[in-house]
Amino acid sequence: MFIGGLQKNSLIDYPGKVSCVLFLSGCNFDCPYCHNPELANSSFPCFLSENNTSENKINENKISENKINDFLERRKGFLDGVVISGGEPTIQKDLVSLCEKIKRMDYPVKLDTNGSRPQVIKKLINRGLVDYVAMDIKTDPYSYSPLIQKDCNADDIISSIRIIMESTIPYEFKTTCIKPLVDINVIKNILNLIKGSMLYALQRFNNTGVLHPEFFRKNNRICNDDEIMYFKSVARQWVKKCIVR
Ligand code: SF4
Repeated sequence: MFIGGLQKNSLIDYPGKVSCVLFLSGCNFDCPYCHNPELANSSFPCFLSENNTSENKINENKISENKINDFLERRKGFLDGVVISGGEPTIQKDLVSLCEKIKRMDYPVKLDTNGSRPQVIKKLINRGLVDYVAMDIKTDPYSYSPLIQKDCNADDIISSIRIIMESTIPYEFKTTCIKPLVDINVIKNILNLIKGSMLYALQRFNNTGVLHPEFFRKNNRICNDDEIMYFKSVARQWVKKCIVR
């Protein structure tokens, strides 16, 4: 298990809960707009912070699971839940046992995932090891290559969407509004896949500390507010709730 960071408190990462966030290192995607390059590229140092400001980063090679266990035991009664984020958590072979340990401590678990490992998501849901799933849909599943991943299997992304929608746990899908990955036709293709879903979040992009800053040297990468509000006006007809964040 490669735990690259721990954010001790968050009011925004787990809807309705005060949570901590475990950041697992390593990712199988290469999103140019990734805001966690230190996690997507796991050779960076780890961090331990009270909040998500980089000033609180502490250099360590890796945060041990024991340290996380101790922290979670001490915070019982103060935290309402644990978010497992990344990087991409589902590529870690010990993710199931990590979730089992956290659930044994009676914490609800939220999983943040890029949806590339449907069988892992299915196992976690079927075993009752996650209570909320937030899945990124980067673009039309057939258009992940080459910008997100060179040989991404669209069927995996679509399977993850179906598994999540067919589950009985709360979930959300989210899309970061960056061109050429996102335009109105892409949004319509995504909506066709998530029709009737509980929550769809359209995310504004913040151009700081990204994985591939060179991608943004070309003009007109960022969808403006008018474009995003237009996406929302279309999306709200297809899903139960659509928000912009
Ligand atoms: S899937 Fe997430 S962690 Fe991985 S590169 Fe993309 S934004 Fe970063």
